[in-house]
Amino acid sequence: MIHTDALVVGAGPVGLFQVFQLGLLGLKAEIIDVLPHAGGQCTALYPDKPIYDIPGVPVCTGRELTQQLLIQAAPFMPTDAPGAPPRNLHLGHMVSELRALPEGSFEIQTDKGLQARARSVFIAAGAGAFVPRGLNLPGLEAVHNLHYFLPEQAEAPMPWAGRHLLIHGGGDEALAAALDMAQHPDPAQRPARLSLLHRRDQFQADDELDKQVRALMAAGQIELVVGMPVAAQVEGEHLTALQILGADGQTRTQTLDHLLVRLGMSPKLGPLTTWGLTLERKQVAVSTASFESSIPGIHAVGDINTYPGKKRLLLCGFHEATLAAHHAAATVHPDAPQHLLYTTTSPLLHQRLGVAR
Ligand SMILES: Cc1cc2nc3c(=O)[nH]c(=O)nc-3n(C[C@H](O)[C@H](O)[C@H](O)COP(=O)(O)OP(=O)(O)OC[C@H]3O[C@@H](n4cnc5c(N)ncnc54)[C@H](O)[C@@H]3O)c2cc1C
Repeated sequence: MIHTDALVVGAGPVGLFQVFQLGLLGLKAEIIDVLPHAGGQCTALYPDKPIYDIPGVPVCTGRELTQQLLIQAAPFMPTDAPGAPPRNLHLGHMVSELRALPEGSFEIQTDKGLQARARSVFIAAGAGAFVPRGLNLPGLEAVHNLHYFLPEQAEAPMPWAGRHLLIHGGGDEALAAALDMAQHPDPAQRPARLSLLHRRDQFQADDELDKQVRALMAAGQIELVVGMPVAAQVEGEHLTALQILGADGQTRTQTLDHLLVRLGMSPKLGPLTTWGLTLERKQVAVSTASFESSIPGIHAVGDINTYPGKKRLLLCGFHEATLAAHHAAATVHPDAPQHLLYTTTSPLLHQRLGVAR
């Protein structure tokens, strides 16, 4: 059981900025996301697309914004060693339960058994927990060579090194994974054979990705399999082949060693609807003074909340996280003075940020 000041559900851009704002106010936070990486929609949906409306940042990609938010929050996301993941960032965990305790704090539980308690909660859950679109074929429940994510660390050993990898999908995620694997900087980590399975010979991907994948196809480094998977052949816990229905109405057997399904992500509101919060059109209703929900102590920030005039923009989420942090600080430490301090001039904030002035 982790005991802390604040729990942040969702490590999207707003959840990351929430940790930063809480840290400035002297509140420790734990942050949890079901995805294997931080950044929410910015990294899951548009990592390489430009964003033009962050104040003071004329242009940056979704991935770059996430990196900058992680660097900014780093003083409040301690690691065990340089380059190690932050101790208070829990990735790959779906927050399944949230309940209020009689003494005024809250407890959460994740699907992987992580439990944490805090005086305040910040729901930064966006459109819901991002889960990969699955391949719904019978028999795949227990197979161990079916993957939805690439290994978290780019330098980690690839499970399909030297084997036949079949990637399923025709969008940005599938094509980017095919390129990354075909051109892995360590040739020993590349698959011996790489196939891309898509329902037709045209991709729904970024032009540049499309061009690069087609060049590798022409060079014989990626082979395209056109059709729809309709059945799986499984031996024990091993998927050995897919039955593919082609446009000609014929079903063919496609053998494989590993299957990587990259059909995109879909957000699931799921557990959040059972936490007793007042929802309006599947969003958490909040006060615009505090961004507190109908349950005192539980705040909702970013795309997950709703109030009159709400706009689902990053800038608005950052503002909400700032006011929510100030509200929680006053509640968690009611006796502490709540002066507004500037990061430019406050020695206390410099100390918290670990900067020398
Ligand atoms: C294509 C596209 C382009 C965009 N361009 C712009 C732009 O130019 N400018 C702009 O201002 N905005 C833009 N947006 C909107 C912007 O991305 C969102 O406003 C922003 O991502 C919201 O951030 P968030 O942190 O609230 O939610 P998200 O980014 O959705 O992050 C929420 C996170 O919470 C996690 N989560 C949810 N529930 C749970 C749970 N129960 N357990 C664990 N984890 C959970 C999710 O997995 C997710 O990672 C764009 C959006 C899209 C789709």
